[in-house]
Amino acid sequence: MSSFDPDSVGLSSGHFVDGAFTVAKGETLSVMRPSDGKCYAEINNAEAGLVDQAVTVAEEKRKSSGWSSCSPRERGAVLRRWADLIDADIEYLAKLEAVGSTRPISDVISHEVPFTAEALRFYAECADKFSGDVFPTRQDSLGMLISEPYGVIGAITPWNFPLSMASWKCGAALASGNAVVLKPSELTPFSTARFAELAVVAGLPAGVLNVVQGSGQTTGNALVSHPLVRKISFTGSTETGAKIMCQAALSGTKPVTLELGGKSPQLVFDDAGDVDEIAERIFLGFTTNAGQACVSGSRLIIQKGIANAVIDKLVEMCQQPVPGMTWNAETRYCPLIDRRQGEKVHSIVSASVQAGAELIVGGKRFEDTAEGWFWQPTLLGNVSQDNIAVQQEIFGPVLTIQIFENEEEAIALAKHDIYGLCAGVHTLNLQRAMRLMRTLDAGTVWINRYRRTKDFIIPTGGFQGSGMGKDLGRQSFESCMRQKSVLIDF
Ligand code: ADP
Repeated sequence: MSSFDPDSVGLSSGHFVDGAFTVAKGETLSVMRPSDGKCYAEINNAEAGLVDQAVTVAEEKRKSSGWSSCSPRERGAVLRRWADLIDADIEYLAKLEAVGSTRPISDVISHEVPFTAEALRFYAECADKFSGDVFPTRQDSLGMLISEPYGVIGAITPWNFPLSMASWKCGAALASGNAVVLKPSELTPFSTARFAELAVVAGLPAGVLNVVQGSGQTTGNALVSHPLVRKISFTGSTETGAKIMCQAALSGTKPVTLELGGKSPQLVFDDAGDVDEIAERIFLGFTTNAGQACVSGSRLIIQKGIANAVIDKLVEMCQQPVPGMTWNAETRYCPLIDRRQGEKVHSIVSASVQAGAELIVGGKRFEDTAEGWFWQPTLLGNVSQDNIAVQQEIFGPVLTIQIFENEEEAIALAKHDIYGLCAGVHTLNLQRAMRLMRTLDAGTVWINRYRRTKDFIIPTGGFQGSGMGKDLGRQSFESCMRQKSVLIDF
């Protein structure tokens, strides 16, 4: 797709409730474009009353429309039509995403929108594929486990991959017969609203998927606290995840699925193979979306014999990216979401260097990028395990480098007190790869790769402070249902 004028993209206004856009009275929030910092729209900050309306409609409509009780194949058919409409609307959806988020248009066209549609297709297939259980009981009775939807699921998504996060959560929750009230990040509200609008065009009964816009504190908190919301599915920071877990516990002991932060290690051994290929994996692992991904592989732990060759290559690669507006077709390197995020990256990098890290390359903002915050790919060498850049999630294109001599040392360095989201292992030694797969404390271990595929059957989710439960896979589908035990005497 060619470059476009960001001011020419029409925006839906307001919340999407009961199949129509609506605006409530009250506070508004400004929405900025990450690329140039321009305020390009405002959203109405949904308060408890509007959230209540959205949740109540969702509960009513899931029952009255038959969404929760119809044949799962019928739900699958709606999800498939929805996916087709997303593919057909790719240009508009991609523009909304490229203007409002950090993702360049080329990336959104090739990945974000197609992946969004594919995730819905995956859950359309799940709809009628998994059954319950029949237990061995006396011959004059029948014991069963049946699954049923929770009711209304509250989904809260972050700003880094707005469309795909929405499709993972809505796909699983809707295919299993729930209604959803979805709150996207207040920083990236518009593509999600369009996503929901297309669901209704595809035949999802109005009201079964509603989108409420607003801040975490006001709208998000009202959603988590609502008594008719029976389960929460959240992706975002570890700190917010903890608050949501507390709030969910206090307002109905509702289950939560939390996909939270990470500080994921990438372990490279001398026997990992081709240096250029390894450097490419490491580089993409920490610079994709300018490092603003929970799975970012932000800690390189590398064996002495191969370290210099890989680091030299990484330095070369770090000097190549050219920042650009996300609406320009040539742009490949994207901005940080906003000034606040830029200042956070800056402060952690500065504190890390002050604590003894060696700044190998990068370490500052690209000049001449107006009000956009474009951060140079940054390598920090000679970092101790307690260095702030090793310990804290940065959410920027910053890689710490630690060198080891043997496997035990590598395992010790890979350990993190808080996070356990992903780990990368780069080695051609099968025994070592298998050992590390078992040893590493991470919800996902990638061996000789460091990125997701379209294999949505593989779930994702972290250990410890990186969260609980899974997105994607049949696990996410099944977690959207509660299990009921039945015993029948005859
Ligand atoms: P970030 O600070 O990087 O935006 P957050 O985890 O705070 O990450 O935000 C992720 C999502 O959680 C956003 O949609 C945000 O509005 C929402 N959120 C933030 N705080 C709360 C809260 N207390 N309750 C519910 N949702 C929240």
